[in-house]
Amino acid sequence: MNCSICGSKAVIDCKYEGKSYCKKHFLIKFEKKVRKTIRVNNLIEKGDRIAVAISGGKDSSTMLSILRNITKDRTDVSIFAITIDEGIKGYRGKTIRDAKKFCSSLGVELHIGSFEDLIGISTDDVVKKNDDDTLKACTFCGVFRRDCINKLAAKHGANKVAIGHNLDDEAQSIMANYIRGDMLRAVRIGPKSFIVEDKRFVPRIKPLRDVLEQEVALFALLKEFPLSFGECPYADESFRWEIRDLINSLEQNHPGTKHSIVATFDSMLPYLKSGYFKKVGTIIKKCTTCGGPTSQKYCKVCILKKKVGLV
Ligand code: SF4
Repeated sequence: MNCSICGSKAVIDCKYEGKSYCKKHFLIKFEKKVRKTIRVNNLIEKGDRIAVAISGGKDSSTMLSILRNITKDRTDVSIFAITIDEGIKGYRGKTIRDAKKFCSSLGVELHIGSFEDLIGISTDDVVKKNDDDTLKACTFCGVFRRDCINKLAAKHGANKVAIGHNLDDEAQSIMANYIRGDMLRAVRIGPKSFIVEDKRFVPRIKPLRDVLEQEVALFALLKEFPLSFGECPYADESFRWEIRDLINSLEQNHPGTKHSIVATFDSMLPYLKSGYFKKVGTIIKKCTTCGGPTSQKYCKVCILKKKVGLV
């Protein structure tokens, strides 16, 4: 297998486009693709202060490194990193140490927030207190983490949060929402994942949305980023994993499936959004308990906090 550009030994075979690339041309192509996603979707604009949410994994490290390259000579845009400690004993400690080292090697300021400080409970304690079998640790953790990222980003003056979702993540979210019939949730998918502008929400951007997980992993490996590979003891995403396996198998037999899922969804998104606005409206309400943004009477954070006796 040789590079389609220079003929030297290839490191990746991109079947979906019928081309292979050597290390040099893969790294160039990858970064170009991410820059194109940012440019075409206006993800970075003059005056932006962007909080880059990192976890020590390949996606967020790759995203931080590229955003750092793009913004380092700009005086009109700034970035900083944030990471959240969910309070999972034996798991997050190492990834936070790695995040600190990585940010310091890039010269990027890092702010760390924790569930304990920002929500009032660690994931370990959620697991001990929750007696509703239908609610898994990941349900609490996902909602609380999103809230913590929003709070921490806002506290440090960000007007955008960058998250490291890649093309596989997007394709999986689209299929998961489709299978669950959750089209209201689906409107949050997209390069800019916010529906209504509201000063209580820091909008999210996804610079890696057009690159495959396999490409992100190779980029991180070739760049020798220090990565954390720990497995969370509460990981229970069986439905998500089924979807991932299904899409991977389709991609194997029909290269380009993942790109096609995301591109087809993107062409439907404007219609989904107008349907959403008709049903939910464009005004975000105030949560009756905390005053936070919500489309219902109570926000999801308060609903879950109530489950573990916090409100
Ligand atoms: Fe949180 Fe679940 Fe991820 Fe663990 S696997 S960090 S509980 S979302």
